[in-house]
Amino acid sequence: MLLPKMRKLFRVWPILLSVGVLISLFVIWPRQSDRSKNPPNDPDDASLRLLDSEKRYMDNRGIQVIVGHYIGDSVDPLQSPNIDQDLLNKNMFNPRPYEGRDGNPVMIPPKDFVLMKQLFQINRFNLLASDRIPLNRSLPDVRKKTCIARYSGSKHLPSTSVIIVFHNEAWSTLLRTVHSVIGRSPRHLLHEIILVDDSSNREFLGAPLDEYVRNLEVPTRVLRSGKRIGLVNARLLGAGDATGQVLTFLDAHCECTVGWLEPLLDAVAQNRTRIVSPVIDIINDDTFSYTRSFELHWGAFNWDLHFRWLTFGGSKLEQRRGDMVAPFKTPAMAGGLFSMNREYFFELGGYDDQMQIWGGENLELSFRAWQCGGSVEIAPCSHVGHLFRKSSPYTFPGGVGDILYSNLARVALVWMDEWAEFYFKFNPAAERLRDKQQIRGRLAVRERLQCKGFEWYLDNVWPQHFFPKDDRFFGKIIHAVTGDCLMRPVTKGTYTQPFGNADMEPCISPPQLSQMFVMTSDGVIVTDESVCLDAPERDTRHEKPKVKIMACSGLRRQKWQYDAKRKTLVHLGSKMCLQLSLKKSDGLVIATCNKSAEQQWELEAVPWK
Ligand code: UDP
Ligand code: MN
Repeated sequence: MLLPKMRKLFRVWPILLSVGVLISLFVIWPRQSDRSKNPPNDPDDASLRLLDSEKRYMDNRGIQVIVGHYIGDSVDPLQSPNIDQDLLNKNMFNPRPYEGRDGNPVMIPPKDFVLMKQLFQINRFNLLASDRIPLNRSLPDVRKKTCIARYSGSKHLPSTSVIIVFHNEAWSTLLRTVHSVIGRSPRHLLHEIILVDDSSNREFLGAPLDEYVRNLEVPTRVLRSGKRIGLVNARLLGAGDATGQVLTFLDAHCECTVGWLEPLLDAVAQNRTRIVSPVIDIINDDTFSYTRSFELHWGAFNWDLHFRWLTFGGSKLEQRRGDMVAPFKTPAMAGGLFSMNREYFFELGGYDDQMQIWGGENLELSFRAWQCGGSVEIAPCSHVGHLFRKSSPYTFPGGVGDILYSNLARVALVWMDEWAEFYFKFNPAAERLRDKQQIRGRLAVRERLQCKGFEWYLDNVWPQHFFPKDDRFFGKIIHAVTGDCLMRPVTKGTYTQPFGNADMEPCISPPQLSQMFVMTSDGVIVTDESVCLDAPERDTRHEKPKVKIMACSGLRRQKWQYDAKRKTLVHLGSKMCLQLSLKKSDGLVIATCNKSAEQQWELEAVPWK
């Protein structure tokens, strides 16, 4: 789930990017839906295209990071010779003392490139590099000084069971995860480590693993699922067997940094209904270098229910001024790494055990926690590295698309009320699966816990959200002269950049999300991915300043007023009118209001539920 080719590309544009970061705000590139593309012909092969599932954000150097997309940079049979069983079953862990030290990148010499490329296909990360790094490699201490002081006393904290589920993980990444837990946690806070093997078929993950963990200094055991049950059920298996006061879940390719555990346990100890995640740093899938990530991102999701990192806006930062290192509330969590009270985990309904393989469970748990009286938070003093990959190495029995969309359909049906209709209306792949979902058990959880509705969630947990609501406009913004629709910037190709000039294109029917906008009662014109219609309040150099689509900032330059009589969209900051100049070179601008047809707009509401 990550980045390396793009990184090189972006290195060339550091200035541009940092400006982008400064001005704003949100970090994410949305992406173009690829619904027009053919579905994968081998439904089990996750290396093929999994629709709409990237998660990206920008790291602290302003680099776009893909946090989890499953597109098909599929194996090129010419470039990567077949990988046979012998190779898969071979544990090639071969550490060299200083490789990867302090989180530095591993450089593979050119003579090994062919082997490196071949091995890369096995786990979709640079296995050769990973296998050269010791299990106990050092990492930088990325903590702020205030964090070190804040969590210096850990005697009183509850202890935790650490649960790591895996399916065909590499030996080196799995055990580096384990050793980083053992090496960087106060011993008295580690109750046990539970590895849950979700039906891996690599020989070295069988008896050799059992043997290896027997000698660790923290009680560690391996549970075996017997058949492939997916990550939700694997985590449930681990949780059911755990006896620590707190459960801490980690992916099988993480590296914990010093001081990672105390902030998580401290937060849970103070309030047992908190679900707390660390800041998720980046382990590069090519070089295994360690990169510290932004501390002040929060998690949310787009209209397609794909997880997104957003930087939080002004008022939230303002609130934190007093205490920048305290845990902060987030609408949703990334899902792989978090701690929560064990008893509370079960009181809150565990997980939805009907969710298959991968995906959706992070939103399900986030909504459930918030709507049923708990909270989801990020402890900025806790840093854990996660190996982000660009594609998934394992099979999705039943088909990638059906699995993800079934899981998301369940999330929507159980937790999202009218917003489920919005989701299904614009996501036919999920709509197709909605009637197949048995959700009675989950609705019973919602009933038992007397959980609040999704509207409460949007209003209170994520007031900055960009979803439609009854108190705001949702629909098309149509130019009176051309009849064209305003749309968010979409580039042809796989990726989409949300920022840029606002485009006008012929309106599409049935309505497409790329042409839908929300206008809030505050006059913000926003669309999916939290991007807003933006114009400068004062621009002395241009008579007709350009209108752009930029990350929403909450600033006045993004506020508008619709005059239904004159059909104008007035920019509040400048008092000028939104205009589509028929002279093509001008495009979408603001200009002195003049009652011309070029400045007339129709707001055509589209039913969303
Ligand atoms: N996993 C599992 N069974 C599955 C799929 C995934 O046990 O059927 C494990 C996987 O090995 C990893 C965790 O669940 O430890 C999360 O999966 P992954 O890292 O692929 O998700 P991502 O981090 O890409 O979102
Ligand atoms: Mn992972």
